[in-house]
Amino acid sequence: MPPLGETGRDPRKGTTPGRDPAIGTAHATMQSLLDHRMSPSPENYLVWFSYHAGTHPELHDALDARLAAQGRLEQADLNEMHARYCAGEPQAQAIGQVSRQLEVALNDAAGMLGTAHDNASSYGTRLEGLTDTLEAAFPSLNEPLRRILADTQALCHSSRTLAQRLAERAREAEALRDALQEARRAAATDALTGLPNRRAFEERLTEALARATTEQTPLCLLMFDIDHFKSVNDRHGHPAGDAVLRGVADTLREWARPHDRLARVGGEEFAAILPATCREAAAGLADSLRRAVANEGFLVGAEGQRLSVTVSLGVAQLQPEETGDGLLSRADAALYDAKRQGRDRVVLDMPPAPDAPEPDEPGEARPLSWR
Ligand code: GH3
Ligand code: MG
Ligand code: MG
Repeated sequence: MPPLGETGRDPRKGTTPGRDPAIGTAHATMQSLLDHRMSPSPENYLVWFSYHAGTHPELHDALDARLAAQGRLEQADLNEMHARYCAGEPQAQAIGQVSRQLEVALNDAAGMLGTAHDNASSYGTRLEGLTDTLEAAFPSLNEPLRRILADTQALCHSSRTLAQRLAERAREAEALRDALQEARRAAATDALTGLPNRRAFEERLTEALARATTEQTPLCLLMFDIDHFKSVNDRHGHPAGDAVLRGVADTLREWARPHDRLARVGGEEFAAILPATCREAAAGLADSLRRAVANEGFLVGAEGQRLSVTVSLGVAQLQPEETGDGLLSRADAALYDAKRQGRDRVVLDMPPAPDAPEPDEPGEARPLSWR
């Protein structure tokens, strides 16, 4: 039997001069599999490998004859060639194993194209495993095959280096992205309550206004302020005041619907943007929040003391052509009216009637009692 790969014959192309015969055989094998649209199964691989390596003259002639008669080869032809010439060969099992490994490696390579760095890394590892298998399976083989192995190992190495670099860059990029996201989140969040801060609130109000205008849906703004909060600090200390602020924020979160947008907009002042909500519904919701706060005992200090507070609320509905500032100042005016009327209440700002004269003071609130 001639040494594996030395013949490197291809009936259609002939031997490529100057080419490494072992690499030529491997290439020709793969090319035949592709030309005949055959899967790189161990059996197919072995038949084509034997054909191009010239290890089985009878197989070679039989395949050539079949090719000449039919113009092309079918899977059934390969199965027949394998059964007749290759099965039971001492090297069949080993080559089959190689081709199986090759298939795995090829599959990995295809996957690698999709997810570059993860798969480049696993590809390198698998190719290394393939190298070990080849060395164990072909102890007597042969310089050309070893050269392929050396090339494979070089490929493994460069693939692993590439994978490592990609992984490093990916980690750096991830860390940067996380830091950036965290900085953005912190800049938009009130540290004490975890609610969005005033700056974030203003952005959200602008977005909500734009959406309400586009979608032609009503939009309400609710502002509220804790009553006599200074006396909470004065009587129980600043940390107790902080605990109450956190408790009020929790109550607000529990009260809100999923699409409402909440914020702590000042020291003891909060806001809720209520999309797709008309003023009457908003006034009802505001009063349910007022009751929820009033009924809560906020835990302050280590002794388990509970404090109660009340809030005053102002509600306004966005008017056609109105700006965010306009809406905000009307909701604020309503809130101050609630304070003036005695606190612990909701005041709903009334929009001017369509044919009514412009008020002297825009945004003047007209109170509604909800107690
Ligand atoms: P009103 O019913 O009119 O709103 O009275 P008030 O006492 O709540 O209002 P005032 O504006 O007089 O006092 C607000 C207090 O809120 C004063 C300030 O020290 C306190 N405050 C603001 N921010 C914080 C905070 O982050 N933590 C604590 N503990 N107190 C705060
Ligand atoms: Mg207050
Ligand atoms: Mg205040």
